[in-house]
Amino acid sequence: MDDDRYEIFAIKYGERMGQRGSIFVHGDPHDAPLAMDYFIWVIRNHVRTIVVDVGYGRAEGERRGRTYLRSPTEGLAMLNIDAKEIKDVIITHMHYDHAGNLEQFPKARFHIQDTEMALVTGRAMTHPSLRHSFHLNDVVDMVRLIYGDRVIFHDGEEIIAPGVTVHHLPGHTRGMQAVRVKSPRGPVVLASDVAHYYESFEQETPFLTHEDLFQMLESYRNLRALAPDNCHIVPGHDPLVMQRYPAPRPELQDVVVRLDVPPKDDKI
Ligand SMILES: [Zn+2]
Repeated sequence: MDDDRYEIFAIKYGERMGQRGSIFVHGDPHDAPLAMDYFIWVIRNHVRTIVVDVGYGRAEGERRGRTYLRSPTEGLAMLNIDAKEIKDVIITHMHYDHAGNLEQFPKARFHIQDTEMALVTGRAMTHPSLRHSFHLNDVVDMVRLIYGDRVIFHDGEEIIAPGVTVHHLPGHTRGMQAVRVKSPRGPVVLASDVAHYYESFEQETPFLTHEDLFQMLESYRNLRALAPDNCHIVPGHDPLVMQRYPAPRPELQDVVVRLDVPPKDDKI
């Protein structure tokens, strides 16, 4: 494979069962249950391995009622990846379920948008409803990493490595970023929480947790513009991801799927 094309994996490490009313802005609280999966992602070729997000820790996840299936680093080990050796981690945003295990990547530089650090250390955090999904320990950890020269700041669209770019798509949080990766099937866009579910960008169903509703809705559209079609966009929490993509090996069924190959169905 060329240096600028990659294998891409989603690793599932947690889950919870919610109701549409607790997940979408216009969801009826008595409406249908809706599951949420928790992932980290891996971008890998023979030259480099980049991890996207680090997941939540067991204590913080369980405090919030989330099931912890395995630690994200255990998930990486299933792909023969040692978290201690990873050099680059993209943090899509600072929510507890994406930035909770920073210390388990002792050699990594963390890539984050300028506006995300401004958000989590600034005035917005005086509002309990806006800081609800952040965990203070993660924010303090990231500040320490800045002082340790281990944070790379980005401002909008930037190149992380050949074939890997980040794209600032705010709204869910101020510094929310997606990752676009060159793969054998064309560019694959890891939306993370720019779009939690397929319906987020297919039907623009607004997610309940956000800093700016208008910007989040705009970002659903701008996300679609990054991909040749919806089959090339991978939402951040949708259990359908595990159904639509194949496991790299039979024993990794329901744990890891490959995203650099086409989805199994074409209903997207
Ligand atoms: Zn999330």
